[in-house]
Amino acid sequence: MNKFTKITASIGPNSESKKVLKKMIEGGVNVCRLNFSHDTGDVQGKKIDMIREISAEVGRPVAILADLQGPKHRIGNFETEDRYPLKVGQKFILDNDSALGNSDRVQLPDEDVLRSLKIGERVLLNDGKIELKIEKISKNSVETSVIRGDEIWSRRGFNLPDTEVETSVLTKKDREDLEYVLTKNPDWVAISFVQKPEDVEEVRDFITSHTSHPVKILSKIERPNAVERIVEIASVSDGIMIARGDLAVEIPFEQVPAISRRIIRECRKLNKPVIMATQMLGSMVNSEFPLRAEISDVASAAYLRVDSTMTSEETTIGDNPINVIETMSKILTYADKDAIDNPYDWSRVENIPENDWSRSVASMAYLNKASVIVVFARDTIAATQISCRRPDIPIIAVCNEDVVANQLCLSRGIFPICDNQLFGQRDAFNAARSFSINSGKLVIVDEEKISLRILD
Ligand code: PEP
Repeated sequence: MNKFTKITASIGPNSESKKVLKKMIEGGVNVCRLNFSHDTGDVQGKKIDMIREISAEVGRPVAILADLQGPKHRIGNFETEDRYPLKVGQKFILDNDSALGNSDRVQLPDEDVLRSLKIGERVLLNDGKIELKIEKISKNSVETSVIRGDEIWSRRGFNLPDTEVETSVLTKKDREDLEYVLTKNPDWVAISFVQKPEDVEEVRDFITSHTSHPVKILSKIERPNAVERIVEIASVSDGIMIARGDLAVEIPFEQVPAISRRIIRECRKLNKPVIMATQMLGSMVNSEFPLRAEISDVASAAYLRVDSTMTSEETTIGDNPINVIETMSKILTYADKDAIDNPYDWSRVENIPENDWSRSVASMAYLNKASVIVVFARDTIAATQISCRRPDIPIIAVCNEDVVANQLCLSRGIFPICDNQLFGQRDAFNAARSFSINSGKLVIVDEEKISLRILD
């Protein structure tokens, strides 16, 4: 129990053998992220079975996060495989003509997107390296001028930072992927390119009309309009991912750290876990050691007391995903211990009313120098709420349903155990002892009752 910040690991070609994945989980992975941008249903289904098997073998819950591709926009194909230079000042047309593209025009295959564009808005291509400004709109095309130039080629992704795209947050592919993955009872589903609270409600309706399994929904914040409506979106979601990759394309990159801090603060107030994502140890795709700045980025996330950090390409296509996880664990363990030695002052949590019961739990633990909080977790609500007060001591969540234990793997400082023999006040001591806590004070939370016990 030396790492409070959880690790969400993206699983891909270099991490999907059982041997590698087991070592990654033993090394500190708490949540496995399956990215549906790259694989569809049944391929991901096999990985889900394997993760469940490994979790049973290592005797620790692991959450499965199914990350849907969402409406990621791409331009159409060009006449050749070549790269086409776009020069500053030139005109470039985006249209709905399926003819192959050239240096004057290319197709925008999604008609909803074409219809949503307005004069003066920006189109960013190729991770923001190219910026186009819309000058004229006709029925089936838009004329743009190139503000920032670079090379472009077939099927590149593009971002629309100024546009509210009038399209469903679930594409046809997302619906098919979601329908399949729901048959495998995932713990969490992540929605990409959320723009408004109604998007989350649409996905929740889809889920509840297909399964009674209590799947949690994580909204990925990667668009400016989602940042503007973060409180409303987080309120209807079960968790948030700060998807810094697309966010730093759609928003001036220098604003991303400030926005991240604000999102973390809002999530804590709303009792929602939050994942800090993207390029945390990106250089380790093909390097044995992280960059100094990456070490600081991971540690800073722990000091900001996020619930989880995340790995991306470094564990999907990287040379050594096990080393990446061991490196991330090492950085988090040190930062978490240092942060605990300098405890977070719970009384400064803004806007948490003094009579809030979870604040009372954190307060009792802090004032009595308790070594652990034991929560009987009939569902995720109480444990998650206590975790969001950031009490900086372990929260042992005693669950009697696997799905609750798995879902709590995402939350900071929560160590879920699942055993229906251990459900009752008298078993709190056993729960603490199962984590080698043999002395000290325990704060015990069972529904509305909060008590202090001494273990000796
Ligand atoms: C991101 O943009 O930071 C992100 C996590 O999204 P994805 O990897 O799904 O494109």
